[in-house]
Amino acid sequence: MIDRELLAILACPRCKGPVKADEEGLICEKCRLFYEVKDGIPIMLIDEARSLDDRGDAGVAAQISGEETALAASFPVSVNDADNDYFAMLEAIFARRMGRQLQDAVYRKIGREIAANAAPPVRQISFGTSGWRGILGKDITVKTVVQVTRAIIRLYEELETEAAGELRPLLGISSLDEAKKRGCVIGFDNRFAGELLAVQVAKTLVEAGFTVFYAGETTTGVLSAVVLQQQQAFSINLTPSHNPFQYGGYKFNAADGGPAASEVTAKITRYARELVASEKKASVPELWHLAEMLEHPQVQAIDSFSCWQAQLACGEAQHGLSLERITAAARQCPDLFLAVDCVHGASRLHIRRLYGGEQGEQGNLEILRSDADVTFGGVAPEPSGDNMREMVALLEKRAEKLKIGAIIDPDGDRIRFTDGETEISMNQFGAMAYHFLHETVGKRGIVAKTVATSNLANALAAAFGEEVFEPAVGFKNFKPVMGRALVFFEESDGISVLGHTAEKDAYIGLLLALAITLETGQSLGAYLRQIEEQYGVYFPVRDGIEVSLYGDELKARLAALDQFSIGTVVPVGETGKKIVEVITLDGWKMIFDDGSWLMIRPSGTEPKVRFYVESRTAAGTKDLMLAARKMLVDVGVITP
Ligand SMILES: [Zn+2]
Repeated sequence: MIDRELLAILACPRCKGPVKADEEGLICEKCRLFYEVKDGIPIMLIDEARSLDDRGDAGVAAQISGEETALAASFPVSVNDADNDYFAMLEAIFARRMGRQLQDAVYRKIGREIAANAAPPVRQISFGTSGWRGILGKDITVKTVVQVTRAIIRLYEELETEAAGELRPLLGISSLDEAKKRGCVIGFDNRFAGELLAVQVAKTLVEAGFTVFYAGETTTGVLSAVVLQQQQAFSINLTPSHNPFQYGGYKFNAADGGPAASEVTAKITRYARELVASEKKASVPELWHLAEMLEHPQVQAIDSFSCWQAQLACGEAQHGLSLERITAAARQCPDLFLAVDCVHGASRLHIRRLYGGEQGEQGNLEILRSDADVTFGGVAPEPSGDNMREMVALLEKRAEKLKIGAIIDPDGDRIRFTDGETEISMNQFGAMAYHFLHETVGKRGIVAKTVATSNLANALAAAFGEEVFEPAVGFKNFKPVMGRALVFFEESDGISVLGHTAEKDAYIGLLLALAITLETGQSLGAYLRQIEEQYGVYFPVRDGIEVSLYGDELKARLAALDQFSIGTVVPVGETGKKIVEVITLDGWKMIFDDGSWLMIRPSGTEPKVRFYVESRTAAGTKDLMLAARKMLVDVGVITP
């Protein structure tokens, strides 16, 4: 009764999973929902679906009112959204293992709050290097997302004012008219309400005369490739990256496909705050629906992943990585097993395409957490050691000699690896990638890594006779060496290579891991040990501490760290280490005479101080961490 092809592309609107047909309509087994087919047209609407368990009578409506009662019985729920902490309710629902239906009832309320909340954001809008992040419904709403979009439009309108001289190089665009024509590519990750918010961003841009390219759910790295391939003026990705499930977010990249410069993000923050202040009483903008957007002549839907493939192919002469060659070798390698944990994020839509091959040729690829769960199963969706346990357990069971486990964050710009035995963080992996491209593939170029990243790459560069570019933390700071740096990476799991994207891209990391493993015939751990034998062993560790001060006050107090200058002997463990170099471009990095170092850096937004240390022995990191804490005591930031 419904054609096969149509059935293949239909998904349950609630879980995005497959549906199957019966005589009367379509069924999602997972959600226990029944979707009616009227005159051959399936009605794929959650509100009109009926529960499989009471099909034929009251349907979902009755079921929802039952849920509402259950919800009200479990939590004091106010009719006023602002009084409710819906995410705290969800956490309680997870903790008590209460039903999925109750969870959905809360999400319906969050959805309503996102669409209808006209109040200013609870936390002031702050647009930094990774964009703007906030709590869904409280900070991130249709109204605030539209306001931020209008702040960005105002930035491009300034290209017609005297500010243009300063803005043109930062935006990579010379006039408002050019910006409108080249337009914006919009994407989002698997977060709740991603599509709803993206469509409202599109509406705002279209109304202001901009062309819109709609990528749907995709990754930050892929959007950077789209901008480079299709020459859009800018990209917007609705994602808070690896923040927990309560968060929504907004990323903005300019015409170079990289994260925007701080002058740009400072302006977006200022204009957005002005709009919030002047529109306190304004109502919520009228909603656009996906179908309306897709019909609009200024909007074009695009296949973002094919742009990523094209961008990779364009850069092959520079980085030497061939997607077809590497993945074909991987698919045919009987010794290889690849597991990719998508942590429910946007990469789940791309990994099988990236790996390529015909059906049945992906026997040595396994994908973990590949459903679009907006709650991330209640865990923080970051590429951490804790989040890799399931992966390690899976790899342990495999008999293949070469095992690669990769975990990718929801918007696909961060990646971390394991070979089943050794966890490889970006501190090591970035240096390994540099070694591989320089020594095995035979490419040339400097290495770039942020100041908080391991000095293993410095040791390699010194041996190769190459330069190291070591900017402040943040991928945007690599801009001065784009086109010169063979590999650029930062310890917080981000990497890209010469000729690829200006944004960090988990997929280039994945491809490098495959290339290294296949080309050298070694696991990532074995390859790392080989490098360490030749160039030295480095043990980087990161930690942080909550403090009572923040912002300028914290910075003023930390300024006393200047007393730790070159020549000072700092007690570390049982001995003293002499400072031989101090780098102060982002906090204080003190390098000691044995090559170990410690770095202290205040958080820009929170009352927090971050430590980064790197020892030359496994046991030494603890002493360095204690020495860093002692310094904070000495300057009066913390008490002993
Ligand atoms: Zn991310």
